Amino acid sequence: MHVLIEIFLVVQINDNYLKLKAGYLFPEISRRIKLFSEQNPEVNLIRLGIGDVTEPLPKACCKAMQIAIEEMGTKIGFHGYGPEQGYQWLRDAISKWDYQRRGCSITAEEIFVSDGSKCDSSNILDVLGKSNRIAVTDPVYPVYVDSNVMTGRTGEAGQDGQYEGLIYLPINAVNGFEAQIPKENVDLIYLCFPNNPTGAVASKSQLKKWVEYAKSNDAIILFDAAYEAFIQDDSLPHSIYEIDGASECAIEFRSFSKNAGFTGTRCAFTVIPQSLKGKTSEGQEIDLWSLWNRRQSTKFNGVSYIVQRGAEAVYSEEGKSQVKELVSFYMKNAEIIRAELMTAGFHVYGGQNAPYVWIKVPEDLDSWTFFDLLLNKANVVGTPGSGFGAAGEGYFRLSAFNSRDNVRAAMTRIKNL
Ligand SMILES: *Cc1c(COP(=O)(O)O)cnc(C)c1O
Repeated sequence: MHVLIEIFLVVQINDNYLKLKAGYLFPEISRRIKLFSEQNPEVNLIRLGIGDVTEPLPKACCKAMQIAIEEMGTKIGFHGYGPEQGYQWLRDAISKWDYQRRGCSITAEEIFVSDGSKCDSSNILDVLGKSNRIAVTDPVYPVYVDSNVMTGRTGEAGQDGQYEGLIYLPINAVNGFEAQIPKENVDLIYLCFPNNPTGAVASKSQLKKWVEYAKSNDAIILFDAAYEAFIQDDSLPHSIYEIDGASECAIEFRSFSKNAGFTGTRCAFTVIPQSLKGKTSEGQEIDLWSLWNRRQSTKFNGVSYIVQRGAEAVYSEEGKSQVKELVSFYMKNAEIIRAELMTAGFHVYGGQNAPYVWIKVPEDLDSWTFFDLLLNKANVVGTPGSGFGAAGEGYFRLSAFNSRDNVRAAMTRIKNL
């Protein structure tokens, strides 16, 4: 029998998947919540853990999508496959409102509409070589790391969970959550500001240092600006392209998930400036725009017409004010979390230009012990910092995505610990 099995099992799997750390963060959180709820079925948990929005879609988006559905049911309003890059009217609106208005010379052609930044920030590796040296912050949005692991760009994970072959840039209270320019040469740098999970932001002068580094090392910055709408401080950049020279060294990922609550509706976009170049293994310069355009045309068939009409409405007068209202709602939550936790004696970071508050856990505890304490004693769910990387140990993330009542109740419970 054994022999037979060996003969028939001939299909090779992608071994890189086996390098992924088994106890992935969110499944482990779910496991502990499930166990707790089974033992304490009467307890009402408040979840400030996973980064999903809770409030309904802006009315302007719903209205636009309803109209689009009606159109789709008519002979002349029907739409089949759309352009793989997104409809021109959406790309025009994005270019105008998110870029030109901020003085960035990003054109509609440089915008690729997609169904999410999670996929785009992983898929981008399709057009990039395997020998690039890659830097990520620690803690980090796990997608950047795992997509590199899956495509064979790393070695094995060590005891601390860090993968061989990646360069980790710690961000913590000691360096003011500012990613330090690496001493070694790196080719690709993932930056996410406002940051998930720490809620930290990057000033123009910090990003300028990165752009200068990238330009002088022929590196590319992969800039995730999923939380730009949460920026309250007018001096902070919303886009990497607000920095001179960034269009020669940066790709930007943006999403409608967090500003307009599209986590379940799905729409995002990636900006690849036409002036952005890489080189072939023979050393010839090639623009990445053409490669990504080819990649999307081959592997992607676009976002639904209905959803793109919904996204377009984000830029209408009504849409802009409704998105602003949504963002203010969550930011008020963040303010409450910050204030209450500070009163309770915690060291808190972030939460002022991002929907995440990053807490230093009390001295003698680690992140998971603090998770269990909050779960069992306060009946509040958060996210252990160590789940985002080795340097997240000793920290804890609370998200501002919840109702006001839940946020207030959660804070009362934590203060009563
Ligand atoms: C939520 C989030 C996104 C958005 O991902 P989508 O796939 O567009 O929903 C991107 N980056 C980070 C860091 C996020 O937290």
